[in-house]
Amino acid sequence: MSRLVAISNRVAPPSGGKTAGGLAVGILAALRQSGGIWFGWGGKTCHGEPSEPRLERRGNITFATVDISKADFDSYYNGYCNGTLWPLLHFMLGILRYDQAQHEAYQRVNQLFARKLRPMLRPDDHIWVHDYHLIPLAQELRRAGVTQPIGFFLHVPFPGYDVLRTLPGYEHLLRALAQYDVVGFQTRQDCENFLGCLRSAGLGGERDGDGRVTALDRRIRVDAFPIGIDVGEAVQQAEAAIASASVQRLRHDLVERELVIGVDRLDYSKGLPERFRAFETLLARHPASHRQLVFLQIASPTRTGVRAYDEIRHELEQSAGHINGRFAEPDWTPIRYINRGISRKMLMGYFRVARIGLVTPIRDGMNLVAKEFVAAQDPADPGVLVLSELAGAAAELGEQALLVNPYDAVGVADAILKATEMPLAERQARHAAMLEVLRANDIHAWRKRFVDALGA
Ligand code: ADP
Repeated sequence: MSRLVAISNRVAPPSGGKTAGGLAVGILAALRQSGGIWFGWGGKTCHGEPSEPRLERRGNITFATVDISKADFDSYYNGYCNGTLWPLLHFMLGILRYDQAQHEAYQRVNQLFARKLRPMLRPDDHIWVHDYHLIPLAQELRRAGVTQPIGFFLHVPFPGYDVLRTLPGYEHLLRALAQYDVVGFQTRQDCENFLGCLRSAGLGGERDGDGRVTALDRRIRVDAFPIGIDVGEAVQQAEAAIASASVQRLRHDLVERELVIGVDRLDYSKGLPERFRAFETLLARHPASHRQLVFLQIASPTRTGVRAYDEIRHELEQSAGHINGRFAEPDWTPIRYINRGISRKMLMGYFRVARIGLVTPIRDGMNLVAKEFVAAQDPADPGVLVLSELAGAAAELGEQALLVNPYDAVGVADAILKATEMPLAERQARHAAMLEVLRANDIHAWRKRFVDALGA
């Protein structure tokens, strides 16, 4: 078996104790299976040329982390990655910012990654690059003479041509992606958008007889590889967490009320202000639901210091205060808003206690929370998933979840109400069908499909 070398912007070495996001969860599960290297930024900045990668070995995984120069970091990460590419790839042109100097820093950081990674590679390695921070990495590795198979997986959505071309010099993204052997997206729609962009830009994009795509002078594989979760682990954690003091306290505190839960990074793509408005709409239109429901929103801060993120944090605090001020009773608070990350184990326990999972991003590549919520349910008395049709997860779970448009406050409110009234047999049937989908395409299947494609 070839060694797997996974590269992502941020590496979460075990000693760091950071809460793992969707990408980290996926990469770790992939590496545990085959062993290999996880290479990327370790979370520190430096002055001048960064030193050689720091290595930390745990089991069959070597965590290799580099520093990024202070001068480049802010322009690369907060600037081009999160101020330009993230909004672009989530179709949010209103908050897209562009600065050529930030683009140059983005290129420099990708060159740095290629320079530091190159000496660590072996001839039979398979290289798997993750996400929008590192789109140009294959191009830089190819320039340095790397001929090993290199795959790229985009965890976020890929837009159509009319959106993509908003970005000055957008063609560089398409040219860089053409340097991979496998380009993977979350959904078929993302693949179609990418191929359409190649065609519109005159860079190829046609499929040939065996399904490969021509892009510039190369033949590459372009496919959907919807990321999954470790279903077994989620089930186990949920079952174990239910007995914990914290989950028991929550349960006791709810009395007969039903728990509606939302868990997200505090990101404007997650549709949190819209979700709060939908819950307010529910309370305003259906007074009978008062005291019957408690909405627990856990939102861990990310990218603090980026203006759009600071603004949304402020907006949510105001919104939660406003809704509670409007509807709360001395013995009932409709919204409980927690502005920090909590352990995965506790999350799974809270999911299991919840009657409704509210997953309503206004755009999302996949959304693993939707899958975790389903996996954490008690099959004998499962909760209902209310899911945005604009999340990648809707392509897999759309038939059994209650699909909503996250902008439609009345529609979301009605779906919550429908979920509270759903008979047990229907909840069980929907849950069983969703769990089957999750098991058939869990994190191991996802990893295997991608790595097999890379080796083919
Ligand atoms: P994204 O990768 O955009 O953050 P996903 O839903 O795909 O979104 O993945 C998020 C991951 O991070 C999930 O595994 C989820 O359990 C975890 N997570 C999200 N919010 C929190 C939080 N507030 N506390 C702890 N873990 C969280």
